[in-house]
Amino acid sequence: MSSESLTFHRLGCHHPSQLVLPDLRSKDCPKILDTFKNAFIAKNACDITKEDYEPLLHLADQTVPCNKTLFWSKSKELAHQFTRVQSGLFTLEDTLLGYLGDDLTWCGDARSAELNHQSCPHWHECPSNPVSVFWNVISQKFAESACGVAQVMLNGSLSEPFSKYSTFGSVEVYNLDPRKVHTVQAWVMHDVGETSSNSCSSVSINELKLIVSKRNMTFTCQNNYRPARLVQCVKHPEHSSCASNI
Ligand code: NAD
Repeated sequence: MSSESLTFHRLGCHHPSQLVLPDLRSKDCPKILDTFKNAFIAKNACDITKEDYEPLLHLADQTVPCNKTLFWSKSKELAHQFTRVQSGLFTLEDTLLGYLGDDLTWCGDARSAELNHQSCPHWHECPSNPVSVFWNVISQKFAESACGVAQVMLNGSLSEPFSKYSTFGSVEVYNLDPRKVHTVQAWVMHDVGETSSNSCSSVSINELKLIVSKRNMTFTCQNNYRPARLVQCVKHPEHSSCASNI
């Protein structure tokens, strides 16, 4: 189990204001908790299916307004710092289900009706574990519901800012609906202090561009998108790359 197990104190119906929750009070929290547990309790922890989470998806259905979805890959901290200040833009973790599962590990056991507090399979061990299946289904749903412009924050400090093996690269990008999403806008962010380079022209970003274009959406890319750069600069105000006039 992770440092925090799925005891769901997050489901006490107290939630941070940045969540995109039209009205959480109208949602029945104990029922959501029960439905979440029923997806994996008393089941083999390597044998979870998408269908197991169907009732939960149905119950906690949420949509983000058009143009307001932010995907991310290998840039979780900055993406979340950014949506905290840029209210009106939402990551998956700013929605109810993503918020509930973020940073947690959970599983059950076929021989017990309790949460397994001893050990849960690592996601490399068996792909059909409760945590991976959960992220796959909710990431898919999150992508399917996007409309207008979809933003994605990528990590330009890595040799491959876009990875086709990531959840963004294997699930989300393929579940955007080109009838609803006209543009995918990538923000490739570099660590402050790194020698500047334009990752938008890299092989890796080009791979993403090809996937997006083939799926009939427009692709745009910005290196060190300034509003997000300003968030990075809060911690490095003296650095030369942060010193340009506001
Ligand atoms: P990433 O490689 O930075 O992975 C993000 C986190 O998800 C990491 O902690 C990683 O260990 C974990 N993760 C990735 N694939 C997993 C899997 N199959 N099973 C269990 N954990 C897994 O970026 P990514 O893979 O592109 O995922 C980020 C994107 O997908 C975001 O756009 C988000 O909407 C969604 N997502 C979020 C989380 C999360 O932990 N909050 C996890 C998976 C997917």
